[in-house]
Amino acid sequence: MGRAFVYVILGGGVAAGYAALEFTKRGVSQGELCIISEESVAPYERPALSKGFLLPEGIELVLGTRIKSADVRRKTLLTAAGETISYKILIIATGARALKLEEFGVSGSDAENVCYLRDYNDANRILNLMQSCAGGNAVVIGGGYIGMECAASLVINKINVTMVFPEAHCMARLFTPKIASYYEDYYKSKGVQFIKGTVLSSFDIDSNGKVTAVNLRDGSQLPADMVVVGIGIRPNTSLFEGQLTLDKGGIKVNGKLQSSNSSVYAVGDVAAFPVKLFGETRRLEHVDSARKTARHAVAAIMEHEKTGEFDYLPFFYSRIFTMSWQFYGDNSGEVVHFGDFSGSTFGAYWVSKGHLVGSFLEGGTKEEYNALAKATRLKPAIEDLAEMERQGLSFALTV
Ligand code: FAD
Ligand code: NAD
Repeated sequence: MGRAFVYVILGGGVAAGYAALEFTKRGVSQGELCIISEESVAPYERPALSKGFLLPEGIELVLGTRIKSADVRRKTLLTAAGETISYKILIIATGARALKLEEFGVSGSDAENVCYLRDYNDANRILNLMQSCAGGNAVVIGGGYIGMECAASLVINKINVTMVFPEAHCMARLFTPKIASYYEDYYKSKGVQFIKGTVLSSFDIDSNGKVTAVNLRDGSQLPADMVVVGIGIRPNTSLFEGQLTLDKGGIKVNGKLQSSNSSVYAVGDVAAFPVKLFGETRRLEHVDSARKTARHAVAAIMEHEKTGEFDYLPFFYSRIFTMSWQFYGDNSGEVVHFGDFSGSTFGAYWVSKGHLVGSFLEGGTKEEYNALAKATRLKPAIEDLAEMERQGLSFALTV
């Protein structure tokens, strides 16, 4: 017994939402399209999607439902409750899960004041804990996106924050030491303390199951009323391992977002897709690529011949305190910093094999960010790094 659909979107996150929006825009008939999500709420960014979702033209929302196995040869998915759902075309939008401390040999993730942040329930939990911890101490584990953004929110909510991470500076995957030092100084001015170059080794947990202190590998101990952990993610590929080709930790797709099985597409954080601009397969973990891969996959599904290869300029951004930055392209090669690092507008270019490949700007205007994106996409040849540094932002504005 089971249900059958023409199109099934597996996952109920950002990419699923945008794929559904694109389907409804292009027109699907009643009963053709189904979204299956483990979460009990409809895909997020609901303001933009509510018209498509809450008055669904033919979209079946199967919420609170975990798929426990998939058979791409038979084109079926099996729910945890035992129902078989079959499809003609499947879009995998299963995203990723937060890595757990246990995977690094530390136990205590299920303590009542230890939080991760991936979904709506996690966010509610953090919010409740934050309210009960005003004036108290939070330890933030990890110096990436979650660590930086959560530390800022905690400080704004009058909680004392110590950040702990193994690298020499924050946002090590993207920032240069000079860029990182700007943000770290700003955070310090807001009272955030940094403990770098070490990791936690254990928690002290009281008889109520609450963490009271975090023990670090360097031997120090930090008192804690709450702990927020952001130590990276792992794409949710397990249902398809052994059935589809994987790459870069995700599901490998071609320029039409189609996997090694022609009836299966993958989008969002779980998809490893060719980035034409760099001639390489990449798996990105950002909302803009989730939205755009989703839209492109649906275009390719519905108008396969007319739809070209996905041609994407990687774009990441963040907003913290009153600051805001954007990054385009690739952070490889030599770095040219520009602007006023003691003020509020500065940036960097990355130059690889004699061409501009990446750019970063803090505190830019809309026009400046647009210029940065345009310049990075053009990949102009760069002969003189010193001249580029001298020109700074005007370089991008005049390319
Ligand atoms: P997700 O949004 O993670 O959705 C995956 C969905 O699949 C979930 O609904 C999940 O329940 C479901 N699922 C997985 N496995 C199964 C299964 N077996 N059965 C049923 N359902 C399943 N990016 C930016 O560029 N800028 C930002 O400012 C930014 N802020 C962020 C803030 C937070 C707190 C987080 C967590 C991420 C942020 N990101 C940001 C990253 C961005 O949200 C992700 O890149 C994006 O959500 C990826 O979309 P996705 O649909 O691929 O995955
Ligand atoms: P991340 O990859 O950005 O950062 C992981 C951090 O974990 C590293 O910087 C490192 O400091 C730390 N780390 C690794 N191993 C550790 C260990 N054993 N102990 C302590 N620290 C350790 O991942 P994240 O911050 O967890 O974010 C999760 C996902 O959410 C990412 O995919 C990210 O792109 C996404 N996200 C994006 C944004 C944005 O684009 N603005 C905002 C929030 C989240």
